[in-house]
Amino acid sequence: MLCACSTGDQAKTASGQRPNVLLITVDTLRRDHLETYGYPRPTSPNLARFAGSATVFDDAQAPAPWTLPSLASLLTGLPTSAHGCRTFYDSLAPSYQALPEQLLAHGYDTAAVTSHVFLGRPYGLHQGFVHFDDELVLEMTRSDEVVSSPAVSDKGIAFLQAKAEATDSRPWMLWLHYFDPHAVYQPHPEYAAQFGSKRPIDRYDGEIAFTDQHIGRVLDALDATGLAEDTIVLLTADHGEEFGDHGGVDHGHTLFRELLDVPLILRAPGFEARRVEDLVRLTDVSATLLELCGVPGLPESLGTSLVPLMRGEPLDLPPSLAELDRNPRLSKAGLVRGDAKYVLDRQSGQVELFDRRIDRAELTDVAAERSEDLHAFATELEALVAQARAIAAAHPDAFRLDLGADDLGDLAGTGYVGDE
Ligand SMILES: [Zn+2]
Repeated sequence: MLCACSTGDQAKTASGQRPNVLLITVDTLRRDHLETYGYPRPTSPNLARFAGSATVFDDAQAPAPWTLPSLASLLTGLPTSAHGCRTFYDSLAPSYQALPEQLLAHGYDTAAVTSHVFLGRPYGLHQGFVHFDDELVLEMTRSDEVVSSPAVSDKGIAFLQAKAEATDSRPWMLWLHYFDPHAVYQPHPEYAAQFGSKRPIDRYDGEIAFTDQHIGRVLDALDATGLAEDTIVLLTADHGEEFGDHGGVDHGHTLFRELLDVPLILRAPGFEARRVEDLVRLTDVSATLLELCGVPGLPESLGTSLVPLMRGEPLDLPPSLAELDRNPRLSKAGLVRGDAKYVLDRQSGQVELFDRRIDRAELTDVAAERSEDLHAFATELEALVAQARAIAAAHPDAFRLDLGADDLGDLAGTGYVGDE
């Protein structure tokens, strides 16, 4: 095994070239429903196998409990108040710089295969991708019961095969976004037999296993084409899903851990497998990938490269800022760190405090018992939000989309319009 410490921070590829990047995001994937994170059902054998050779982050935090702001944060290294994608009428303005743009500017070929309305071109997350395949988005707007993982993987494998045969030696980034664990939970016969299909959570687990099976095909293709030893692979999710944990279902409505805890599994050539307990953030992903590629970070990013943690070294990270700002009734801001979660309801002014060391399920609000600590949390949260808003102030307002009745029908199909 090569020692990454003697070779700088860039991932050490077999070819000596800059590494390729395969970014895999799975919509609505609860961290605690993966075997790698202790789930007792066999939902994810392929991800578990992959995790065995990777850095597994045990406490990765999403900045928002729904797709658009969370993925905009992953690509830009900015929290919601900085990039401005707060509601489904917002689009990432072209003035923001995102991960694929930076890689493209440094000689990478960039491609994405998307399968979610919010990853369609109107929402602006396509910027920097030379190849942007949103065919499945169009298909999915016609029905919320489309099963898309097989097609996402087929398209991804075709890209890998083309790259393996290509004569140019340009490194590449490929982003595959899987949607199937998102409601409506479809029963898949082979997993219904294993997990049952009566309860929503059973069909949800079946959707995870089905998606895992198709991600496994992509990872196998990476091995078969010989590209694996030159390629960084990062798997994560945009948010989780609630099954009555706090009395609700679905996602996009709270800042509780069932929605903000996400898996984060990262394999980079030259780095040994390990587990990292530290709290890390989805906003750190782009800084980490750019450092591993030997490419300068995004100028405005508030993310921190996690490479020291991958080497087993300590790293002092700021708390994670979590925000929900879809409408006045759904406006919350939270500060998450190893020992505490503090959540402010912006409309009522009510605060909640959870002790993450002894109450990871976030069931016991200790704000009343620790009232002397609340002022410090409020000040810290205010500072994080102010830092984010100062960045937004340097950009034109996030693009407002002019959605017609047809578009709203599409969004209703994805379960997002109900609260508006
Ligand atoms: Zn999502």
